[in-house]
Amino acid sequence: MSATSGAFDDLAANDVDNLIHPFTDLVAHRTLGPTIIVRGEGVRVYDADDNEYIEGVSGIWSASLGFSEQRLVDAAVAQLQALPNYHAVAHRSSPPVIELATRLTELAPHDAAKVLFTGSGSEANDALCRVIWYVNNAQGRPEKKKVFAHDRGYHGATVWTAGLTGLSSSHQGFEGPAPLPGIVHVASPDAHQVAEPGETPDEFAIRLVDAVERRILAEGPETVAAFFAEPVLGAAGVVIPPPAYYPLLGAMLDCHDVLLVADEVITGFGRTGRLWGSEAVGLAPAACTFAKAISGGFAPIAAVTLGPQLAEPLVEQSGALGGFNLGFTFGGHPVSAAVANAAIDLTLQRDLPRRAAELGRALSVGLRDLMDISIVQEARSVGLLGALDLAPRRATDPEIADARRLVAAVASAAEAEGLFVRAAGTAVAVCPPLVITADDLEELLARLGRALRSVAAGAHSQGSRDDDLAGR
Ligand code: PMP
Repeated sequence: MSATSGAFDDLAANDVDNLIHPFTDLVAHRTLGPTIIVRGEGVRVYDADDNEYIEGVSGIWSASLGFSEQRLVDAAVAQLQALPNYHAVAHRSSPPVIELATRLTELAPHDAAKVLFTGSGSEANDALCRVIWYVNNAQGRPEKKKVFAHDRGYHGATVWTAGLTGLSSSHQGFEGPAPLPGIVHVASPDAHQVAEPGETPDEFAIRLVDAVERRILAEGPETVAAFFAEPVLGAAGVVIPPPAYYPLLGAMLDCHDVLLVADEVITGFGRTGRLWGSEAVGLAPAACTFAKAISGGFAPIAAVTLGPQLAEPLVEQSGALGGFNLGFTFGGHPVSAAVANAAIDLTLQRDLPRRAAELGRALSVGLRDLMDISIVQEARSVGLLGALDLAPRRATDPEIADARRLVAAVASAAEAEGLFVRAAGTAVAVCPPLVITADDLEELLARLGRALRSVAAGAHSQGSRDDDLAGR
């Protein structure tokens, strides 16, 4: 259903000629061409031929309020008319940015003292690392700089955050397989791929946290600054850690004076059935990063919240040095901030976390029901964030490449059924807008079921426009 007919032929040709599509096989794109989306309505988007798709992954995990929320449009228009562009550099400010900072310090899943705005999730994670280094330098421990992160975690596409990302596909062709110096990857809390046979969830959590502790001791705790963690690992295939994992990890990291920080870029703003993913998994962060649903995905904006142990020394050091010299032109954009304020209002007024929890039960049951299809190995979800694993494998299984092709084939078959899902490693991920109705969720699951059955029956060829996806 790639839409390239009539007046859109030129558009499609110009797309292929001129656009570099992120996370896309650009050679395959020459033949597959773009799916050009021209409008959105609720949880649906429409292509240039007016084919309808349920956006089962909210764009890139972001459109929590759907694709036509008038209150977000109104907030953007009002702010565009009042002040379309400003910034937060050199003491300048604007009302929506101040309001958003105040709300985030109140709402964040930790004792948050200050907020720094950026334009994207990658920039937020990048900036947070630099803040931690700045503070450690200020506190006279310049050697405390290493950062830990999970295998298969995703944290961004800048040099440093791609480094933090534990997906080999993010490194392939760029810096190479070796992690950047100063970054340490540890096992993902993924019971499906990493747990030993017969291991209970608690035993699994204890084993992983022990391994992290041994690695910290081997590196030297005085050299380890922070652990960056997604509460639920999205791009890894919606990895939901065992309940004991984050509480144990946090307590252990405290003993070694290593900060645990939460990348809430996917999990924030109700997705997991709680306002924050951290709350859903018992993660007590010292700092957080937010993006995507912060504005319902209607405007690019991201944020870093800092606990007092980071914020206070940062402020003092900026005084000593005559400036905190880190920031972005669009870090504090008034239009994005106004949209984010409206999105947070709607999220709270409509109690979308509760809605995600309630509908999440239907998603969980619906995904489990699909396990009768031969290629489905596991179903898991938390709130309105779920995934199906599609092949029998452990991390070392040589079949893994085939599983990925299978996932790509299902994503492509789903598109033909009028459903966008995400190829996330060996899993198909779903993450619909939080405003989805029960009927539309049922329809989403029906379309996904048809796509899975057609691939299981060999009716849909493997390899597709999603073949390239690393799982971002
Ligand atoms: N962190 C997580 C958990 C993400 O999923 C992503 C993007 N999918 C990012 C960070 C990076 O955000 P951005 O693409 O806005 O830079």
